[in-house]
Amino acid sequence: MHELAPLVPEEPFVLSSRPPSPGQQRLALGIVLGLTLALYLVVGPFGGMQFGAIPSFVAVYTSAMFVTDAITAILLYAQFSVLRSSAILVIASGYLFTALLIVPYVLAFPGVLAPHGLIGGTQTTAHIYLLWHCGFPLFVIGYALTKDEHPSRRYSQRAVRSAIVRSVALTAAGAAAATALSMSEAVLPRIMLDESRFVPDWLYVVAAPVASLCIVALVVLWLRRRSILDLFLMVVLCAYLIEIPPHYFPFPARFSTGWYAVRVTSLLSSSIVLIVLLYEITALYGGLLDAVLRQRREREVRLMTGGAVAASIAHEIRQPLTAMITSADAGFRFLDRATPHLDRAKEALQRIVADGHRAGTVVESIRASFKNDDRTRTSLDVNELIREALSLEDGDLRTHRILVRAEAAGQLPEVRGNRGQLQQVLINLITNAIHAMAAEEEPRVLCVKSEAHQGTDVVVSVADTGAGIGSHDRDRIFNPLFTTKSDGMGMGLSICRAIIEAHEGRLTVFPNTPRGAVFQFTLRGIDSASARA
Ligand code: ADP
Repeated sequence: MHELAPLVPEEPFVLSSRPPSPGQQRLALGIVLGLTLALYLVVGPFGGMQFGAIPSFVAVYTSAMFVTDAITAILLYAQFSVLRSSAILVIASGYLFTALLIVPYVLAFPGVLAPHGLIGGTQTTAHIYLLWHCGFPLFVIGYALTKDEHPSRRYSQRAVRSAIVRSVALTAAGAAAATALSMSEAVLPRIMLDESRFVPDWLYVVAAPVASLCIVALVVLWLRRRSILDLFLMVVLCAYLIEIPPHYFPFPARFSTGWYAVRVTSLLSSSIVLIVLLYEITALYGGLLDAVLRQRREREVRLMTGGAVAASIAHEIRQPLTAMITSADAGFRFLDRATPHLDRAKEALQRIVADGHRAGTVVESIRASFKNDDRTRTSLDVNELIREALSLEDGDLRTHRILVRAEAAGQLPEVRGNRGQLQQVLINLITNAIHAMAAEEEPRVLCVKSEAHQGTDVVVSVADTGAGIGSHDRDRIFNPLFTTKSDGMGMGLSICRAIIEAHEGRLTVFPNTPRGAVFQFTLRGIDSASARA
């Protein structure tokens, strides 16, 4: 037996609500280990080397960081506009904050735009770095603390735009304040001895606050971790932590091997969430395309039978019905005279009888279209048909959180039949079961079972835990045009029965226990059919 877990939390498709797969967890661990290994393999043997300032490197690295952080922020704001959760707004602001701080960082960096920086003094870039690396974990803590808020507390659709504008304005104000703070060299502790050497107590002034905030953020995230976004934010924080020692060892200065190596790894770590977001968007797009194609295929199959039959019944029956009404009117007129014209009235009645027979023939000919036409029949594996039908309905089953139990018999006789028609029967029965369960309490269970019967035939049953069918309706549901749904056509089950009977089988219904309905049909196996022949 194969079971599909009832998945689908509220928003099944997005990074910030989907739990990470074991593969994604392994990838996250691999990134942390890979970054650590790469960094320390470079810094270990070559850590003592000094390369001097390479302004173009700083310009390129900061521009790339700005672009990745800004795009990540934009994508997270876009996710916020869909989910409207405060947590996403907070983390989007975090990425915007880091992107905005990169601008004064590069403006103040000595040698990039001006020999001693375009703004601020010797301490400015180091102060900005400190505030940036303390600020981001604070945003992550804010994200982690708000991410479990009750859905009812989310922003309303109307408030989304103003929330984004407010967040961008506040973040920009925060980044401006941080820049001002960094430029007034007296407020924050001294970090640089000169333009390249750090103060000896760099460990306490920079490393300690950054590391403690990252560790707190990691712990809070770890305790509340649930989604892919949580996982990869933990990776970013780990990267922040492993980047600290190479700044300091073997000596606390800029432009060492460690310093340059850290710029490269921090560019990689700042792109992690962006890469995951882009990957998710591509996967989502693929999934969406797949779902649309499936839906279209399914609709086509349905229209092919339901629509065609309904249209042909309406079209073919209208003509004899109109003729019957005309003849009946004429009959009335002949009888309504002062001297009733009995012969003509009799003729009118005979025409009504003939038209009635004609209507019957029309219905029969429609039924005949489902009858044995051996040219359209092939030998079929019923279990495969069930698998295909379930996969076509997968989207609806997940949406309604329906647990699927497919109990396929191992050794099933092959049947001969029209693949499209039998597929249609299964799809109709499964769709009806989904509709019947949609409004019911969980657990909602759909059990599709195949069994061998008397060694040669196959019995298929589709059982649900829906509302079930009242005893007075049990026979009527197979009548054409009987429906209890506001948008139903009432054709599905009558078509199913016609198809199964055309395959010399039987479609029946009985109550499921403890609730719901079981639709069961038999199909003759190839061996039993040839034995009869
Ligand atoms: P339609 O789906 O258009 O209503 P169908 O012929 O498929 O037409 O079904 C006829 C009626 O039978 C439905 O309207 C519904 O009331 C009932 N029915 C069918 N399947 C089920 C089911 N699994 N559980 C309960 N009622 C069902």
